[in-house]
This record gives sequence, C-alpha cells and structure tokens, in this order.
Amino acid sequence: MRICVLGSGSGGNSTFIERGGTALLIDGGLSYLRIRQELETLGIEPRVVKAILITHEHGDHCSEAGSLARRFRCPLYGTRRTLAALRWSLSGLEELRPFELGQEFEIGDFRIASFPIFHDAAEPCGYLIRSEEGTVGLATDLGVVSRAALEALATCDAVILEANHDLEMLKTGPYPWELKQRIRSEVGHLSNDACGEALAELTRSGRLRTAFLAHLSRTNNRPELALQTVQSYLDGRAELHLTWQDRRSELLIL
Ligand SMILES: [Zn+2]
Ligand SMILES: [Zn+2]
Repeated sequence: MRICVLGSGSGGNSTFIERGGTALLIDGGLSYLRIRQELETLGIEPRVVKAILITHEHGDHCSEAGSLARRFRCPLYGTRRTLAALRWSLSGLEELRPFELGQEFEIGDFRIASFPIFHDAAEPCGYLIRSEEGTVGLATDLGVVSRAALEALATCDAVILEANHDLEMLKTGPYPWELKQRIRSEVGHLSNDACGEALAELTRSGRLRTAFLAHLSRTNNRPELALQTVQSYLDGRAELHLTWQDRRSELLIL
C-alpha cells in the first residue's frame, strides 16, 4: 500500500493511496495537471486513479473535484449531504456515489469506512482505508478530536492528521478576531498541541506507528515548529512526516 499527500493546506488538498494498481484520491482541491505532475515524480500513471473521495464541501477540498472526476473518468464519493452541498458544481457528473456516514464499501482491494468530524460544513467526515497491509486514517479540518474520531483512528497503522496552527502564532498573528475565533472553535481547525495529544493517545491505545502532519497554516504555523511540538508529545513512539502546500510529501509504503 502506497500513501502520499500530494498537497495539503488551505490552498488545496489531495492525498493518494494505492494498492495493486488501484488508487484513490482523498479530496480534489488540486488541479488535474498538478496531480498528474506529482504522480509522475512517483512513476505512477494517472489511469490507476479509480475513485475520488471527498471529506467536505469547502473549496480547498473539492474546487477541482468535478473536473478531476471527468479527467480521471472515475466516480466521486462523499457523504450524502456533502454531495448535496456540491450539487451545482457537480451537475452533469454521471458517477456520483453518495454514502451514509459510517456505511462501509469497497473499491478494488480497499475497504473504506468513514467517521464524523466536527467542522463547519454540511456533513464532514474522516476516512479509514483498509487493505491487507494495514489501515490508513485521514482527518483534516476538525475543531476537536472527538472520542468517535479517536476510536476510529485507533485501528490505524498510519494517519494523516491536521496540525493547522500554533496557538501563540494564531493569537498574535494578523487574522481578524472573528476568523481567529472560528479557527479555534470546536468546528474549526486542530492546533499542533491538539494534534500531538491525539497522536500520543493513538500510540498508547492504538497501533499507530506513522503520522503525516497535514493542513499546516502558512500564516499561523511553521513546519519545523509543528514537527517539534508534535514530537514533544510522542517521545519517538511514531515516525512523523510533514506535508506541503506546493509539493508532495514523502511516499510511505505500508
Ligand atoms: Zn481545508
Ligand atoms: Zn474545511
């Protein structure tokens, strides 16, 4: 199973997961050209992409979803209310596959499950992607890590979890007060500390060994600060990888 975060942040998100010639993209916030270029650096043909899964309807996760589904000629999956919220931008797409939160389904060798997250969107979700080699979990854009999210992620060998901001940088940074409040709220974004606490819990109670830090703010965070803060919670119990807005992460093979 190969995992790579192709791009992550408020400028656009997409994650690639492949096994046995079948690949999924989680979120479609990057252009077809950009995704094709990133896949090329991995020596991967675009035709392996067989499905796009959407976490929620915000533009940085699905501004390109319709055009990606057309270019890759693959179906688009999302919770029922997420796809309903996107219906105008997806009109004319033939292969829309709405599902109920928590309902499991299969794509190729993958078994896919979803779990609810707290975020200011219609019906946002995180994903669990299972294969014979293990389970990968993804949760970005969440105000808090709920008990349900922790329980779902505890089954994962690797997770892609948001480390959006450093609290002090957000507090003293240039954002207007209302936006700061929204980011810090229960339906906003996860701080480096909250990410570190959740990962520490997952290494203790779950099987987590590898984590990608995702959706880093370019204004309210710095990659080395995110890494250092999260590391301080983990005592080396999990291997950490950074993700980037303008280039792909390292490739993880599970
Ligand atoms: Zn986002
Ligand atoms: Zn969002």
